[in-house]
Amino acid sequence: MAENFWYANLKTEVEEKIRNVPDFPKEGIQFKDITPIFKDSSLFEKLMSYYANKLKNKGINKIVCVDARGFIFGSVLANKLGLPFVIARKKGKLPAKTISHTYSLEYGEATLEMHVDDIKSSDNVLIVDDLLATGGTVDAVVNLVQKLGGTVQGCWFLIELSFLEGKSKIIKNVSNYDVKFYSLLDY
Ligand code: AMP
Repeated sequence: MAENFWYANLKTEVEEKIRNVPDFPKEGIQFKDITPIFKDSSLFEKLMSYYANKLKNKGINKIVCVDARGFIFGSVLANKLGLPFVIARKKGKLPAKTISHTYSLEYGEATLEMHVDDIKSSDNVLIVDDLLATGGTVDAVVNLVQKLGGTVQGCWFLIELSFLEGKSKIIKNVSNYDVKFYSLLDY
């Protein structure tokens, strides 16, 4: 009971920080700006500790952070869990040998890359991004992790826009259907 109250409180506090920006980066998109959360250090700490606790002992041994806001959440989570993290970056940013995957976004098209030596076949990965929209971005990362021989155990987002059904896109492509989804807010 007390935990439910605490969780509901965390949700409300985080929700209150999210700034909705209409028509960004193009008309018709309601952009969820999560940056105000970072200005409240105790709330950010509470949020990350809550998820670090939840993700303990889930068999995850590496976190993949997605360019760019996923870097913030993923690196903090990895640090709290004592796990290594690697990054999936937009095309042309990673210096060493990479593999890439091109996909469509809620707005536009993009290519993500990972260093080929960032995932091993023994890796059980949690993918972290700020927001799940159509699922194209995370699906691209799932693709990259699997091409490099890793297993996707779960995906973490702060926000899910569930009306866009991104989760079903990812599920179709994961080899273990047990993949778990974690998100605090659902719109
Ligand atoms: P998608 O590939 O459609 O799931 O889009 C997810 C990626 O695009 C995430 O990295 C988000 O940061 C970003 N994104 C997509 N839609 C929005 C939105 N409405 N508000 C904020 N970020 C978004």
